[in-house]
Amino acid sequence: MTRVPRSARPPVAQPFRPADGRTGSPKGLRYGRLTIVAAAALAIARLSAQHAAPDWKTIEDETLRHYQAVLRLDTSNPPGNERLVADYVKGVFDTAGIPAEIFALDANRPNVVARLKGTGAKRPLLIMGHSDVVTVDAAKWKHPPFSATREDGYVYARGTIDDKDNLTAGLMTMLLLKRQQLPLDRDVIFLVESGEEGNSNFGIQFMVAQHFAAIDAEFCFAEGGGVTRIGGAPRFATVQATEKIPRGIELVARGISGHGSVPLASNAVVHLAAAVSRIGEWRPDVKFNETTGTYFRKLAAISPPDVAAHYRDVLSSDAKARAAADDWLFDHEPQHASMLRTSVSPNIVAAGYRSNVIPSEAKATLDVRMLPEEDPAAFLAQVKQVINDPAVEARFSAQNTRPAGVVARTDSEPFKSIEAANTRIYNVPTLPTMSTFATDMAQLRARGVQCFGIGPAVDLEDGPKGFGMHSDQERLLESELHRFVRFNYEVVADLARSK
Ligand SMILES: [Zn+2]
Repeated sequence: MTRVPRSARPPVAQPFRPADGRTGSPKGLRYGRLTIVAAAALAIARLSAQHAAPDWKTIEDETLRHYQAVLRLDTSNPPGNERLVADYVKGVFDTAGIPAEIFALDANRPNVVARLKGTGAKRPLLIMGHSDVVTVDAAKWKHPPFSATREDGYVYARGTIDDKDNLTAGLMTMLLLKRQQLPLDRDVIFLVESGEEGNSNFGIQFMVAQHFAAIDAEFCFAEGGGVTRIGGAPRFATVQATEKIPRGIELVARGISGHGSVPLASNAVVHLAAAVSRIGEWRPDVKFNETTGTYFRKLAAISPPDVAAHYRDVLSSDAKARAAADDWLFDHEPQHASMLRTSVSPNIVAAGYRSNVIPSEAKATLDVRMLPEEDPAAFLAQVKQVINDPAVEARFSAQNTRPAGVVARTDSEPFKSIEAANTRIYNVPTLPTMSTFATDMAQLRARGVQCFGIGPAVDLEDGPKGFGMHSDQERLLESELHRFVRFNYEVVADLARSK
C-alpha cells in the first residue's frame, strides 16, 4: 500500500494523545479517555481507508490507456477536429458518472467542461488541457505521429508534451477525486479547450466571452511550467505565473514611386531597411518584475558558479556588469534575454513588385512581446525614436489576441501547494517564471483568475535533440507521465479537499 502523503492525512487533534499515566487520574476519567482514544482511532482508520491516497501503481495502466487513446486522435490544427477528443473525454466522464457538458462555437471544435461539486465554502479550482495539436510533417517522424508508439520507456506522438499530457493528468485527477470520494470545499472544474494553437476564438476566448460562469474559478492550472531534468535527474521546477503580451507593430515606409533606372532618396525600401536594421540592433531596457526577479535569483542559487554569475550580474545595480551579463545571455541564452525586456523581432518584410519600379510603400511586421507591466503607448513612442525617420510610420497592428491580466502570486496557497508537491515528489526547488509566449491562461488572468502553469518532467537535452514540443518528434517518458498524474492529483486534492 502506498504511503498516505502528509497533505492527505487527517489532522490528529491534541486531546487524542494517549494518557501518559503520570498523574493518578481517577479511573472513570481514564476509561473515558481510552474510549475517546479508541473511537477516534477508529474514525481516523475509517477516514484513511476511504480517503487513502490512490494506489498509484495500479492506476498506471488506466493512465496510459487514456493517454494513448487521445494521442491517437488526430487533432492537428488546422483544421483541429477537436470533436474527436471532446467525444472521448465526455464518454469517459459519462461512464464515471461525472457531469460533463459540451460548449461549441463550431460543432467540430467543441470544448468540454466537467465539474465535481464541493460544498462551496471556497471558490472553484479550474484545471485545463487543450485538445488540439500543431500539424506534423509525418515523413520526418520515426514513429507515425498519431501512433502513440511505446519504445524504451517513452511514448512517441504529436501532443505527448503539448498538451495531451496535461489533458490526461486532468482527466485522471477528476476520475480519482470521484473514486476517492474526497469531500471538497470547492468545485473542481476541468476544461478541455480547443483551438489553443492559434484559434482561441473557438476555445478559451469563446468560453470566457460566452460561458464564463461554467469555468469561473479562483485559481487555474494549465500548461506552461514543468520540471527540468538534467542528466536524467530532476533539477528544478518552474511554475508559469505570468506571460508576455503579444502586441504586433507594423512599420510602413512611404516614398515617391518612379522608374528604377533613376534612384531616389525617398526610396521606401531603403527607408524601411534602415528602420528594420535599427530596430534589430536595439535591445530595449532590462526591466524586472516580481516573477522574473525571483526566477533569476533562484536560478542563480542552483546553477554552476560560472553561469550563476551572469544571472546575479544581470540583477545587479552596476550598469556595466548588467550590460555584460545581458550581452552574454543574448548570445548564449536568448530565451533568458527575452525574459528581461519587451522583445522585438522583425519577422515579415514586404516591399516592391517589379525590379524596375520604385515602390511607393514598404512594410515590415515586428513581433513584439511586451512585459505585462509595459506601457504600450510609451513603448511605441520609443520605437519611433529608435527609427528616427519621419518617412516611416510605426503603429500597432490590428491583431491583439491576448489581453493583460493578473499575475499569479508566489505567496498564494496554490503556489505553496505546488512547491510542497515538487519537494515531496521530485525533490526539487520551485521557480516562478514568466513565459515569453502566450497561453490560454491570458484570457482567464484578464478576468482576475490566478493561473499557474505546470507540466511533467522533461529532459533538458530532449529539446536540442529534436524531441521537444512542435518538433518533428515529440515524446514523454511514461514514468514521468505517471509522476505528473500523481503531482496533479495531490496538488488539486490539497487545495480542494475539505479541511
Ligand atoms: Zn500547448
